[in-house]
Amino acid sequence: MKKLDMLYEGKAKKVFLTEDSDVLIVDYKDDATAFNGLKKGSIENKGVVNNRMSNLLFKMLEKGGIETHLIEEISDRETLVKKVSIVPLEVIVRNVAAGSFSKRFGVEEGTLLASPTLEFCYKNDNLGDPMINEYQILALDLATKEELEQISEMTFKINDMLVAFFKEIGIKLIDFKIEFGRYHDRIILADEISPDTCRLWDANTNEKLDKDRFRRDLGNVEGAYEEVFKRLGL
Ligand code: ADP
Ligand code: UDP
Repeated sequence: MKKLDMLYEGKAKKVFLTEDSDVLIVDYKDDATAFNGLKKGSIENKGVVNNRMSNLLFKMLEKGGIETHLIEEISDRETLVKKVSIVPLEVIVRNVAAGSFSKRFGVEEGTLLASPTLEFCYKNDNLGDPMINEYQILALDLATKEELEQISEMTFKINDMLVAFFKEIGIKLIDFKIEFGRYHDRIILADEISPDTCRLWDANTNEKLDKDRFRRDLGNVEGAYEEVFKRLGL
């Protein structure tokens, strides 16, 4: 399938139209940003890691009954995906306290939560992606009640599958962010699942193997992405 006009250039990916109006090509960049674009940099080979890792995880989730946007990986950095209309929500799951949750509630990073939590942020760069609750989502008509129920149900299933999957390769899934889209009459998983969008800690040492190394200037950012890539057998 040929790449036509660029539809959108985001912070981490470029999105291209194709001859098929139902299909897009996403092209993963090495660009890294944090704090709503305030911190900028580049992580060598990140595009390859995130593209191939997302595709591997999406395939695993598909086997578990979750429909995703994945059609086919066409190169190390490019993938054919189903074109969806993104539900403007960042859906965040947490198994262990970290980041903004730790700050907001005064819970030490690394504290195991009594049960996994689900939270939503309104995907809006101008507003800095504010946290939003389910009533506010309905009030702003960002999603219907049925869609929200479906998203929540799918998200907890995805969490269960991802936690088990990462455990096998000696990684604790602390938290992650996913996005869903409307595709014809259904809600499917879109965007990516990668060290950019997850907190991944080594199960034995708690070493951070994710974008927090970039956000917090912890060093060896490339090494962390490579380590996850290697453990996935990629
Ligand atoms: P951002 O917009 O946060 O800078 P990216 O650089 O990752 O993020 O850009 C990719 C954009 O493409 C995001 O806005 C994401 O919501 C959107 N997107 C992801 N998957 C799909 C899809 N299957 N169809 C349409 N848009 C998608
Ligand atoms: N996250 C993301 N994109 C965002 C915000 C958060 O992928 O715009 C991910 C982040 O990598 C982490 C989880 O969502 O895995 C929870 O992030 P948190 O709310 O703690 O925010 P942060 O500490 O990144 O500000």
